[in-house]
Amino acid sequence: MGWRDEDGHLGEVVVSAERIAVRVAQLGAEITKDYQGRAPLLIGVLKGAFVFMTDLARSIDLPVSVDFMAVSSYGDATKTSGVVRIIKDLDIDLVDRDVILVEDIIESGLTLRYLLHNLRSRNPRSLRVCTLLLKEGEQRELVAPDYVGFSIPREFVVGYGLDVAEEYRNLAYICKYHETIS
Ligand code: 5GP
Repeated sequence: MGWRDEDGHLGEVVVSAERIAVRVAQLGAEITKDYQGRAPLLIGVLKGAFVFMTDLARSIDLPVSVDFMAVSSYGDATKTSGVVRIIKDLDIDLVDRDVILVEDIIESGLTLRYLLHNLRSRNPRSLRVCTLLLKEGEQRELVAPDYVGFSIPREFVVGYGLDVAEEYRNLAYICKYHETIS
């Protein structure tokens, strides 16, 4: 993998670029059908969702607007605590808008639960969630995203927007990341 993996941390590909492209087109078509006659507002959660959001926005055949929020969660590096701090807030008013929150990955669901609570208080007309990745596990009872790209095993992954210490976001695919080098 050359410069991409000089330190040998990258593992097996979990979702290839080809599979991502096919699935993003399907999600875009589904959203286009569900939101006929409306102009949804896509809200991306930075930074992880930036790649997915740009591809998804272009696969929706409707007049969409986009906005972004940046959050940081308190907790250690590997587990979120559910207490989220907003670092960059939205520019667009949500009142009477059809909002789709676009996430890169849901693990425990705690970040998403906080964001949904926060966005609901701004009185959008509707609020749905589209996540590229959903980790298999207990979060299914906590939050139920409306659109899911792929369900993946509970292993740490990088690529297509997802990072480790700001690296690997520009990989075109999603692969496993190993903390210790084998
Ligand atoms: P949750 O609150 O659902 O446990 O955590 C969601 C956030 O944790 C994601 O938005 C992402 O920033 C981070 N996260 C969870 N799993 C992974 C993973 O496998 N890889 C990366 N790079 N980030 C992850």
